[in-house]
Amino acid sequence: MQAVVVSKTDWKSPVVEFFCEEDVRKVEFFDNEMKAEIQKFINSGLFSGKKFEIVPVTNHSKKIVILAGCGKTKELSPTQMRIITAKLVHSQVISGYNTIQIIPMKGRDSEIAEGVVIGGYTWEKYLTEKAPGPSKAMIKSSNVKEVEKIIFIAESVNYARDLVNDDSDFMNSVQIEREVKKLVSGKKGFSVKVLEEKELKKLGLNLILAVNGASPYPPKLIIAKYNGGKGKYTAFVGKGVTYDSGGLGLKPSEYMKYMRDDIGGVAVLMGVMRNVIKFRPKKNFIFALPLVENMIGSKAYKTGKIIKSYSGKTVEVEHTDAEGRLILADALAYVDKNYKPETMIDIATLTGACITALGYDYMALMSRDDELADSLLKSGQKTNDRMWRMPLYPELLDYLKTKDADINTLGPPRVASVITAGEFLSRFVGNTRWAHIDIGAAVFVNDDHRWYFGHGATGKGVRILTDFILSH
Ligand SMILES: [Zn+2]
Repeated sequence: MQAVVVSKTDWKSPVVEFFCEEDVRKVEFFDNEMKAEIQKFINSGLFSGKKFEIVPVTNHSKKIVILAGCGKTKELSPTQMRIITAKLVHSQVISGYNTIQIIPMKGRDSEIAEGVVIGGYTWEKYLTEKAPGPSKAMIKSSNVKEVEKIIFIAESVNYARDLVNDDSDFMNSVQIEREVKKLVSGKKGFSVKVLEEKELKKLGLNLILAVNGASPYPPKLIIAKYNGGKGKYTAFVGKGVTYDSGGLGLKPSEYMKYMRDDIGGVAVLMGVMRNVIKFRPKKNFIFALPLVENMIGSKAYKTGKIIKSYSGKTVEVEHTDAEGRLILADALAYVDKNYKPETMIDIATLTGACITALGYDYMALMSRDDELADSLLKSGQKTNDRMWRMPLYPELLDYLKTKDADINTLGPPRVASVITAGEFLSRFVGNTRWAHIDIGAAVFVNDDHRWYFGHGATGKGVRILTDFILSH
């Protein structure tokens, strides 16, 4: 759903106004005639401001007001405001209109804008019949610049969601390369380099090559560089497994259905890149996107295989479904060696264990650097795109010991799987300041609504990393 900021409303389309229970009896409305109508509704008990109450009021002229209840003021958190807005934009009451106008409650215009854009998102590319409902919301605000910025960033979240939601045979490594080039071509400060299979072989990025062994699509490492200022690079590395069958250690079929979401890390970074293009921070960034597909076949990499990584360390494949950490390990080591960044942050749909640990609402953050972790957590709090820090400590390495290689890919089953994955990655970043974000749980909603996200990809992570880039 498209959102625009306006300075005033008119009666060409319905006007939505939000109310909390406590405010409903002292309703203020800009139009006296309609104020009297609204008052009648309230006095007769037809609208009381309860959460999710949506009531249309008209005076039989062209004026239509939609009263939207928000419940108790003290319970109306920023997330709740977004959820209520999302419910509104999908409600039956407004489904017959193309455009709605919204008068936000004081100080809630940004939250409502996100509720409209992120909450109003639907993935309908492959539907022959689209759901009815408005396509545009005009949000009244005097805070034009700030709300427009929020809207742009929310649209980048939806851009990331489109990349994840699409069919994995369409959004394969070749298509992602096209999308990246389309995104950044001609954009000041940006340049793109793609390491193809031949170069990956020559340079020894053997972990990336191994995972892609049985895929009909070529492996790639896309490096998008942004030079906007002075100083060292901050590098972002995203996991880009365009489809994950689990490899020879095949996933049970019920866990395979939505495995196109394993492109989530790359998609988030492309959303962030869209924001960098728009807001042009005076900083330097690397966006590294390793792209593979984890399939079965005679060329699939094998359980028990020992592979020499780009860093020189040998790795034992304990399970072929732990492929994400392999491609990240090579990409992190490559970026660290060749661009000498000051900071590296990877974002990845790394573990299903994340769901057990934190549910679907939180991303897991790991870092040995308190300052970096605090900055990211702060961005998480500010943007409401939530994150929780998990521990990393040197002794975790004990879980990854093996007799046959320098390091094993996995620890014992169901033992600290989120953080042993983080520990594994930490062994490929040298002494560079680094953080790891696991979006294994938060990336996709595969049944019903969580918060204001509908079915499908959530785009979680775009807002955090954008805020981190723009405010540090
Ligand atoms: Zn996997």
